[in-house]
Amino acid sequence: MRTAVPQFDLAGQYPSIRQEAEASVLRVMASGRFILGPEVEALEREIAEYCGCAHAVGMSSGTDALLAAMMALGIGPGDEVITTPYTFFATAGCIQRLGARPVFADIEPGSFNIDPARVAAAITPRTRAIMPVHLYGQIAAMDEICEIACRNELPVIEDAAQAIGAELGDRRAGSLGLMGCFSFYPTKNLGAAGDAGMVTTNDPRLADALRRTRNHGMEPRYYHATVGGNFRLDAIQAAILRVKLPHLERWQHARTDAAALYRRLFDEAGLARDSIAARDGIVLPPELPGRRHVYHQFVIRAPRRDALRAHLAERGIGCEIYYPLALHEQECFRHLGHKRGDFPESETASAETLALPMYPELTPAQIEAVVTGVVSFFR
Ligand SMILES: *Cc1c(COP(=O)(O)O)cnc(C)c1O
Repeated sequence: MRTAVPQFDLAGQYPSIRQEAEASVLRVMASGRFILGPEVEALEREIAEYCGCAHAVGMSSGTDALLAAMMALGIGPGDEVITTPYTFFATAGCIQRLGARPVFADIEPGSFNIDPARVAAAITPRTRAIMPVHLYGQIAAMDEICEIACRNELPVIEDAAQAIGAELGDRRAGSLGLMGCFSFYPTKNLGAAGDAGMVTTNDPRLADALRRTRNHGMEPRYYHATVGGNFRLDAIQAAILRVKLPHLERWQHARTDAAALYRRLFDEAGLARDSIAARDGIVLPPELPGRRHVYHQFVIRAPRRDALRAHLAERGIGCEIYYPLALHEQECFRHLGHKRGDFPESETASAETLALPMYPELTPAQIEAVVTGVVSFFR
């Protein structure tokens, strides 16, 4: 009998936290404090500590975290923000929602993250921020990006939605730029039971600005010097996240163990290649030096990717394409005037990548089933 392997298994995680999670929800219900309040403040302290930052400000989602971070800097019409075209839509969508212009810089050929040389080349007098994404759980080239930002006196906003706990040297995602934006979408490495997010920073004035921004720019009550939004975090989500946070390191290790087993089994099967040009194997996810990859996703490159995906689906193996169309080719960004070929590394990644099942509860037998499924496509 074949082992079915889902792409995610959130229900599989629930028994290990069930008692505590349910008690925490009931605690919030009895408290009558449903929005912000002590649960959110406690989570903010705990996330700040986990990320090695002085401040953390709870937000209603990762998307709202990005939006609030840019609003706190006053980014708006006429401004440009440099980011990657190979990311989840929200990164660039938030720039456009503020009336600013997303300026894309292609990814590095050797990773899925933005290329610092292309960031430097994209800077203009209108540039107001640089927004790298730590895609799939691995930190972008932050030393180089921050050096470029520093030279040009520009803030760096990390889109760390996929990278909580990822490290560069001994520094964690969210502590490397001026602000770090996190998502606690249920399938992220630390997931809520709904939407939730956070912005981290070491700048106390920015932390205050973020707190105002998430609450209509209000301070004091019913006085508004600036326009913000409702980006507030719910207490129930914060309470559940506080139950899950103490498990996060164990779950991160389970992900890296799963990634190491994938790697070993693909190597043993003789399937690992340096490029897919030979068309008889796959490229394993790059692990860059000096970094801790937290494997939000385990993403391979494969020839005939769509056929491989169909082959795996037929065998009950979940897999997903992140992301099938680079952002510069999305209809909503047509006014930016890009065409196919403008960001070739991102376009190639969109055509070649496939995310295999990855979650802490993945068993060795399931990983073997996935590898067997991939091997059977090539043999
Ligand atoms: C998930 C994600 C977001 C958005 O987070 P939400 O909580 O879903 O709003 C933003 N950027 C990236 C890279 C993401 O993966």
